[in-house]
Amino acid sequence: MRQTRILRGKNLFIFLSFLGVVLLGLALLGFWYLIQPRLGEIYSELPFIVGIAFLGLYLAVVSLFIVIVLSSFIRRDLISAKKITVRILFPLASAIGRVLGIQSDEIRGSFIEMNNSLVRTASRLVEGDRLLLLLPHCLQNFDCPHRVTAEVRNCERCGKCEIADLLTMCDSYGIKMSIATGGTLARRVIVETRPRAIVAVACERDLTGGIQESYPIPVIGVLNDRPHGPCRDTRVDLSKVEGAISFFLQRVTPRAGGPAEEGEPDVAVCGGKSDKTLRP
Ligand code: SF4
Repeated sequence: MRQTRILRGKNLFIFLSFLGVVLLGLALLGFWYLIQPRLGEIYSELPFIVGIAFLGLYLAVVSLFIVIVLSSFIRRDLISAKKITVRILFPLASAIGRVLGIQSDEIRGSFIEMNNSLVRTASRLVEGDRLLLLLPHCLQNFDCPHRVTAEVRNCERCGKCEIADLLTMCDSYGIKMSIATGGTLARRVIVETRPRAIVAVACERDLTGGIQESYPIPVIGVLNDRPHGPCRDTRVDLSKVEGAISFFLQRVTPRAGGPAEEGEPDVAVCGGKSDKTLRP
């Protein structure tokens, strides 16, 4: 299935979830249709009563879905939308997407955008030392001899890869940074550092798994670029990483050539270390 312009970004995920909600309605209708003769034998009014119950249940599901979509667009945490999105809508959307022949990474990418929107609905302040920047090992220059997965400070900041820039960024904001070689190590880092929020960089598959496994810790995912193919010398848009960090720290960062705006998520220039006392 070719993605049209309107189904770009999180819209694809919303569309697939909508199809899931429609299918659920059809399944409930079909189930009611099948059981209503037996219900009628028990009590003549029972098919009507069960039908009303099914309708009520379905209208509740539809209302929930509408509120989740609204939350992501108006950036207000109307309900606990992220939990339903992560636990229920994503598996549903993935299954429907596969049936429609949509590539898994397209669905995952769309889910990540939806997740990021929902994370941003909750304007949550996080102390710098409770914010974790989690990076994949493939961001490191392939020929670099330094073991940055064991200790990020082993990086000599030679500038051959973006680890140096990201380290400088983390020092500037006073946040933690870790480089993981895989899901197991990433999980261990999360258990050990106990972050209140995570900015994660990875591919679609790893980010999706990480967002699901880290729940309820809020994660803003930033997709890496793979100019040399997967898992080798990958890159990341530093302004997106900094925008996500700024969001969690609720930092005001100056824009090149103009004054900063409070709460603006996308930033281009790195600020100094925060001295605010923040509460999550
Ligand atoms: S910036 Fe750091 S991690 Fe990257 S190649 Fe240089 S020393 Fe290695």
